[in-house]
Formats: sequence, C-alpha cells, structure tokens
Amino acid sequence: MKKVLVVGGAGYIGSACAEYLLDHGYEVTVFDGLITGHRSAVDPRARFVEGNLEDRELIMRVCREGKFDAVMHFAAFSLVGESMQNPSKYFRNNLAFGINLADAAVAGGVERIVFSSTAATFGQPESIPIREDDRQLPINPYGESKLCFEKVLKWYHQIHGLQYAALRYFNAAGATGRYGEDHRPESHLIPIVLQAARGKRDKLMIYGDDYDTEDGTCIRDYIHILDLAQAHELALSAPESGHYNLGTGNGLSVKTIVEAARRVTGREIRTEIAPRRPGDPARLIACSDRARKLLGWKPQFENVEAIIESAWNWQLSHPEGYPD
Ligand code: UDP
Repeated sequence: MKKVLVVGGAGYIGSACAEYLLDHGYEVTVFDGLITGHRSAVDPRARFVEGNLEDRELIMRVCREGKFDAVMHFAAFSLVGESMQNPSKYFRNNLAFGINLADAAVAGGVERIVFSSTAATFGQPESIPIREDDRQLPINPYGESKLCFEKVLKWYHQIHGLQYAALRYFNAAGATGRYGEDHRPESHLIPIVLQAARGKRDKLMIYGDDYDTEDGTCIRDYIHILDLAQAHELALSAPESGHYNLGTGNGLSVKTIVEAARRVTGREIRTEIAPRRPGDPARLIACSDRARKLLGWKPQFENVEAIIESAWNWQLSHPEGYPD
C-alpha cells in the first residue's frame, strides 16, 4: 500500500483527492492548518495532523517519521484579487512555506511530489487551447507564486532527484457526495450561481459582457474535482517528472453556465451585468493531450450539467456549508 501525505487535505480539492486515494487503497495522512480548510472536510479514514507549512520543524518531523511514498501539495491561498492587494501573503505562503515542504520531502526520503498548479501561471494566453509549453507570463502574484514553485520543483528534481508532477488546474468545479466547495467568502462562479438559485443570494453579478467572445462573457474550462483527483492518483506513477494542463477542453461562457444551472436546478437565477473583474482573461481553455497520453487520464465529467448537478446536490445537503 502506498503512503501519501496530503497537505491541504481539508480544502476543496484536497479533501476530494484524499477521499479518492482512500477509496483506492492508499494510506493517507492529511496535514492542514485549517485556515481556509474545514475540519469536517477531513476524511475520517485519514490520519490528521493540524499544522501549517510555516512551521518548518513540524513538517520536517512529519515527513521524517511518516515514511511517505509521495506528497500532494494543495495548501495555498488562491484568490487573484487578494494577491493583487497583498502579494507578501502569496509569496510567503505559496512559495516560501512551500519550500519548507519540498525540503521536508527531500529530508524524509519522499520519492515524489504532486503539486497543485494553475492556469494562472500562463497569464494572458498566447493561443487557445493552452499547451504545457506555451509562454508562462503571470499577470498577478497568485499565478507568479505558483510558477515560482513549479521552478523550485524543477531544480529539486535536478539536484535532489525528487520526482514531481505540476498539475495546472483550469476551473475546478463540482462536488463528491461528501466533499464540496465552501470558500468564505465565496468568489467562484458555480457556487455563487447555485446560491442565487437557492435564494441564499439575490443574484449573480456577471463581471463583464463586453469581452471578445461569442456572448461577450468570459470563457472558462470547468473540470470536475473527481477528474482532478484521478489525475493526481495517476501522477503518482507517471513515467517521468513534468507539467500537465488539466481541463476538459470545452470552453463555456459565464452566460452558458447560468443557462445550464437554470436547467439543472429548475429555479430562477437572477443576473446583473457588472464591470469587468480586473485580471480576468477573456478565454482560458486547456489542451490536456499530454495528461491523456502520458498519464492515461480521461475526465469522466465532460458534460457541464453533470458537474453543476453534483455541486447542486452538495449545496442542498450542506445549505450552510461545512458545520465548522
Ligand atoms: N464570475 C462572474 N461573477 C461571479 C464570479 C465569477 O461573472 O460572481 C466570472 C469570472 O469573471 C470568470 C468566471 O466567472 O470569468 C469564472 O470565475 P471564477 O472566480 O469561478 O474562476 P477563475 O476563472 O477566476 O479562476
């Protein structure tokens, strides 16, 4: 049985990945400081260590004692807008504290690290769909902090032999039966649309309808968290270290998402056009051929209504989010 340390396993994507690993016979330890994560999102089958990567001694000890085969690193701040106000928070947490984890992995003899990277490392894409080797020119400290850590991994691989996979998520969405999206405050499109459908919020503000797209609203590539989880598990046995873009390859506009959510929920969803949100590229769509070919990855949720339906079911069963 493989032993995996899931850092950030109480967060949105980390909790779903921890569940997926446990369902597939792995032994999982979750390490999370519960700053944005939730204690009740930690799978009860996992061992839980409460701590932050800022605590270098603690993560060193956990990795030395744990005898882990692999580390998955989900622990990060991920709000673009906040990163433009407070870059220090992003470079300290996502880069400097991440280095504590990379050092601990080396010291603990961990073979491999699977890192949550992001489409935001590309900035304004030079072409669509976005391929792994396209130019990476982040336009905010969040994307830059993730790109810096990708580079740390490349050098740790070369110098220390630490294997790595940097998985660049496009728009993570959906829920498993038990684990779903509960950011406070929520800023992501699908949970906000569904909150508007439930009447928990008045309406959705659509950030700009004057983009150069078919209906004027931004286009994104929504990928289910279970498909991300599958990619993480496959990355544990990837033949070589490298980078993978993870999306379905389907680009959907904000208005298309609202229409799909109306069909799934059968509810009215009010919208209002608002100014553009700074830093939003018009179009982000992944080319995931590399993950499909080298990892054997195949997303199961290619239909956005199924993604939205899973998020809707989770909201209905967790109307106030997680209890803690
Ligand atoms: N969006 C929106 N209203 C909202 C939240 C998001 O119009 O209340 C838009 C946002 O401008 C972007 C898309 O929905 O074009 C997806 O945004 P999200 O924050 O979910 O993910 P991002 O693409 O920023 O990672």
